[in-house]
This record gives sequence, structure tokens and C-alpha cells, in this order.
Amino acid sequence: MAKQQQAIQSIRGMHDILPEQSSYWHWLEKNIKEVVGSYGYQEIRLPIVEKTELFKRSIGEVTDIVEKEMYTFDDRNNDSLTLRPEGTAGCLRACLEHGLLHNQSHRLWYYGPMFRHERPQKGRYRQFYQFGVEAYGISGPDIDAEMILITHRLWKKLGILDKVELQINSLGTSEERLKYQIAVRDHFNNRGMFAKFDSDFVERYQRNPLRALDSKSDTPATQDAINTAPKLSDYLGEESRKHFDEFKQILDELKIQYRVNERLVRGLDYYSKTVFEWVTDELGSQGTICAGGRYDGLIEQLGGKPNHAIGFAMGMERILALVELLENVDIAPTVDVYMIRVGEAAEQAGMILAERLRDQLDGLKLQVNFGGGSFKSQFKKADKSGAAYAIIIGDDEAQRGDVALKSLRVEQEQITLNHDDLIDRLKSHLSL
Ligand code: ATP
Ligand code: MG
Repeated sequence: MAKQQQAIQSIRGMHDILPEQSSYWHWLEKNIKEVVGSYGYQEIRLPIVEKTELFKRSIGEVTDIVEKEMYTFDDRNNDSLTLRPEGTAGCLRACLEHGLLHNQSHRLWYYGPMFRHERPQKGRYRQFYQFGVEAYGISGPDIDAEMILITHRLWKKLGILDKVELQINSLGTSEERLKYQIAVRDHFNNRGMFAKFDSDFVERYQRNPLRALDSKSDTPATQDAINTAPKLSDYLGEESRKHFDEFKQILDELKIQYRVNERLVRGLDYYSKTVFEWVTDELGSQGTICAGGRYDGLIEQLGGKPNHAIGFAMGMERILALVELLENVDIAPTVDVYMIRVGEAAEQAGMILAERLRDQLDGLKLQVNFGGGSFKSQFKKADKSGAAYAIIIGDDEAQRGDVALKSLRVEQEQITLNHDDLIDRLKSHLSL
């Protein structure tokens, strides 16, 4: 006898989405698409693999993602390729490549899996899904505000608005940030206290002095150094300051609540001016469900003419984890009607009727029992399917050319109907 093989398992941090979860995904995807659609955004579909160079040049060499999180490999031609860790770079690459940015503006969305070799934990995976939005060619703060309006409307629709907080900041231009970076470096150097700083802080500082400011380390020395550090807002130029003020003003006028978080710097190099995050405290330390900002400079960095860009990405798994905490998510059932067939004639008649029902009732979700079984066992399966109604066909019904219809969810007498009446009934009961 052949020895039983050991089963192969999925890759750590990469998860299957099982059938019982996929209805939640559909529900979320549908809601998001409706919201972005209501602002006139169009979908762009992008490859999952890009040249490694694209991410190095856009995200930045000295970032967590490029330094230690990318899935990079040589293909058979020895070209270095990378599984996309995020969508912004690929989206911009595609728009530049196809000339979409010549004197035009575009409002786009993309959706799909991203890959980062991080330490897997709740809310942090190696394959995860992002829904992203990007707007090109629009310079004013109104488009920055639209990013917030879209996400705000979505949280409202999903029922999680009261669980999230909007944090905003302005990073200024890259020149302003450079000046600020020097000031921060001087500040920490003057303190001459590196020996007292803990490793998280020092590591962040060495990678990027600004990242040290959002270090979670809570030793008195680091906290004191962070709290007394210069403020980025003092280094913003006239134009950046005005842009940020106008952005806030629009949010105020639309009564969108926010908190200015001066420590919000984001982990990617390409941001300038407005940045924002939607954060919850209900998911432990993986609390950011959506993050984004303006990245005007990236277009030139990728070989385009000076232009404007802003966008955000949300983590689908984290949003779903928040949604799971809700009680009443209105998930559409997989099956509306389950057909029970007992006996050879019934099986034949049922199959024909089922196809006729699908022909005539657009949107009907009808599952036919296969594999036989008694009325009792088929009723059990009907109940388990989640269907609201069962159509029952036995020998008598098959002979007469009618069916029995029974509600599975409310106490009601089973009724006998001919096929035409059945169609009318289902149409009105299921609002088809
Ligand atoms: P974090 O600070 O949590 O590492 P990030 O700044 O790396 O997030 P972005 O690159 O801005 O995240 O991605 C946008 C969103 O994608 C995040 O706010 C989060 O919701 C989600 N996300 C990022 N990395 C992961 C991951 N490894 N697993 C699941 N979701 C993720
Ligand atoms: Mg990260």
C-alpha cells in the first residue's frame, strides 16, 4: 500500500479565504465600489509583479518595505522582479507608460493582494489585500479633502465610523522636510544621550531621523527627546501651510472630525504635504485601517513631467476585523431557494424546472439538491443552505406537474403551486 503523503500547507502569513468568509469580502467589496463609484472613480487593473527597480525608486531604498519586506526574485532571464508590496508605484508606472497624465486628471481605484515579508500576527500578513484610490493631475486641497470624504462615507456605510479616528498632518515639500530633518538630527545630537536611548528608537533614528519621532519606546530619555523635538509645522513654507489650512477648512465645513498628529510621518519616502491615517484602538497594535497622502514628487522620480498625485490604501483584513465586532452585518445569503427532489421522475422534472426558473427570474439564487436522500435529509440540507424557501418535488408533484413551496424561516403552511404561479410567488417574495 502506498504510504500516505504528508499534506502540504499554505505559506506562513498567506491565508485562504474560505467560503463562509467570502460573503463578508463580497459585502465589503461591493460597499467600497459603490462609494468610490459615487465619486466617479474608475478601476485600473495592474500586474502583481513589477520590476524591483520600480519599488526601490518610488518607495525609497531606506524604508522598511524595501530594506526587509519585499519578495524579490530573479526570473528565468535574470531580471530582478518583486511581488508588489503596495499599489501606488505600479499604478503610477502604468499611467506614465500609457500617457494618461498628459494634461488630464484621473481618479482611479485598484484592488488586490499585496506582499510583504513581515512578522505575521493579527492584522499583519505576508499576503494581504488593499483597496487603493489614486487621483492624478489635481493640485488643490479639495482633492485631499475628497480622499477623506470617500473614506468617511465608507466607514459610515459599513457602520464603523464611531470606531475610527482621523489623524492628519502636513509633511511639507521635500526641501522643507530636509531642513526639518537637519533640525531634528541636531536636536538629538545635542542631547548627546544616545547611550540612554533604547534600541527601537536608535534603529528608527538611524534609518530615518523623522521615523524616530513616532517610536513607541517609552523610556523617559526617549520620550523626553521626542517631546522636546522641533515641530515640523514650524518648518512648513507659506504654500504648504496654506494648502494644509485650506484642507482643514474644508473638513471643518463638512463637519468631519480630525486630529492633527504632528508625529504622523508615514513609512514611505514619497509623501509630501497632506498625509493621513484612519486609526482604531480596537485592533491592538495593528490599528491603522487606511493610510495615504499626497505624493506630487513621485511622478518626476519615475520619469514623468511635474504633476500632482494623491491617494490612499486601506487594509481589507483590518477593516473586516473591525466589521466582525459588529452584530448586524447584512450579508446577502448564498442561496435564496433550495430544491428538494425525491424519486426519479421528480429529479428529472426538477432539473428542467430549475433551469426555467433561472431563465425567468433574474438574480435568483437557486440550489438543487444532488445526491438523492430522503425528504428529511434533504430538508436538513435545505435548512443548512441558508435558503429562505424550499421547493419540494416528489412523485405526486412530478406526475401532476406542480410543486410544493415551503418557507424555511417563518412558520407557514406549505402550499402547492403550478409552475407559473411558483414563478410569480418567488418573484414577489424575493423581490426579483
Ligand atoms: P503599518 O504601520 O501597520 O505597518 P504601513 O504604513 O506599512 O502600515 P501602508 O503601506 O500605508 O501601511 O498600507 C496601507 C494599509 O494597508 C495599512 O494601513 C494597513 O491597513 C494595510 N496593511 C499594511 N501592511 C499590512 C500587512 N502586512 N497585513 C495586513 N494589512 C496591512
Ligand atoms: Mg508596515
